[in-house]
Amino acid sequence: MSIQWFPGHMASARKKAAEAMAAIDVVIEVTDARLPEASGNPMISELRRFRNRPCLKLLNKADLADPAVTRVWMDFYNRQPGVKAVAVSARNASDAARVPALCRQLAPHRDDGTKPLRMMIMGIPNVGKSTLMNALLKRKVAKVGDEPAVTKHQQTLDLGPGMTLTDTPGMMWPKIDYDPDGYMLAASHAIGRNAVIDEEVAAFLGSILLERYPALLAARYRIDPSSLDAQALVEAIGRRRGCLVKGGGLDLEKASLILLQDYRDGVIGRISLETPESRAAMIARIETE
Ligand code: GDP
Repeated sequence: MSIQWFPGHMASARKKAAEAMAAIDVVIEVTDARLPEASGNPMISELRRFRNRPCLKLLNKADLADPAVTRVWMDFYNRQPGVKAVAVSARNASDAARVPALCRQLAPHRDDGTKPLRMMIMGIPNVGKSTLMNALLKRKVAKVGDEPAVTKHQQTLDLGPGMTLTDTPGMMWPKIDYDPDGYMLAASHAIGRNAVIDEEVAAFLGSILLERYPALLAARYRIDPSSLDAQALVEAIGRRRGCLVKGGGLDLEKASLILLQDYRDGVIGRISLETPESRAAMIARIETE
C-alpha cells in the first residue's frame, strides 16, 4: 500500500498558482539538486507550459550534490523547450546575483525598456526559496505591495530597475506519486520529521549510499561497506558511535538519525539521490509491479 504523505489541498494550490502565473513573465523553479525530480512539483511545469512561460530551473543546494550527477541533470533539463537549468547555491551571493540576468535572457520580448520583467519563484518547501529571495533582495529591498487577489502572504518586490520578483503562491507541496520520492524528500528534510519512519528513511538512504557512494561511507564511518546491507550499515554506524540502549543493545533510532543528519549536513560528502537513469528505472520498476 502506498504511503499517504500529505493530505491533498492541491485544487486550491493549483488555482492560486494558475492565477499567479498569468501575471508573470518567467518562472524561477527552485528544486533540490540532490533530488531534482522528487523535489519538483509537476504542477509547475504543467501550468507554465499551458501559459507558455519560460522557466529558469535552479538546481539549488548544488554544494551538497554530486557535481557529476548535477551536470547530467542540467543536460537533461536543458534539452526541454523553454527551460534553462543552472546549478546554484542560494547561500552563495554571487550565484544568486546571476539570476536576474538569466531571467532576462529567457524573456527577451520584455526587454524593450518599457515593460518590467516579472519573475516568480516557485517550489516545494525547504528547497531554498527564502534564501534565494533574501540573497536577491539584499541588492535592493523595496516592497511594492501584497497581492490580495492571490494570497495575503504573497509579495511582489521591486528588484529594480524594471524587474519585479513575486514569491511562491501559497504552499506548493511535492506530489508524491512514488514512495521513493517520499523517502528521498524525508531524507533531505524537505518534509517534516516523523520519528516513526526515521529508521525506514535511514535504511532507504543507506541502500542508495551503499550502491553509489561506498567509498564515502568507508571514509566517514571507518567501516568496510562491501558486505553490508542497509540494516547492517545502520547497525555498524551505531556500533562505531556507541549508540546503545539500556541493557547494552543497539539504539537503531539514534544510529539512523546520525546517518540522516550527516547526509543533511553534507558531511558524508557530495551526494545525489537520483539520476535521470535511476529515476527512469525506479518508475519502470514500480509501474510494472
Ligand atoms: P524555502 O522553504 O524553500 O524557503 O527554503 P529555505 O530558504 O528556508 O531553506 C531551507 C534550508 O535549506 C535552510 O536551512 C537553508 O539555510 C538551506 N539552504 C538553502 N539554500 C541552500 C544552499 O544552496 N546550500 C545549502 N547547503 N543549504 C541551503
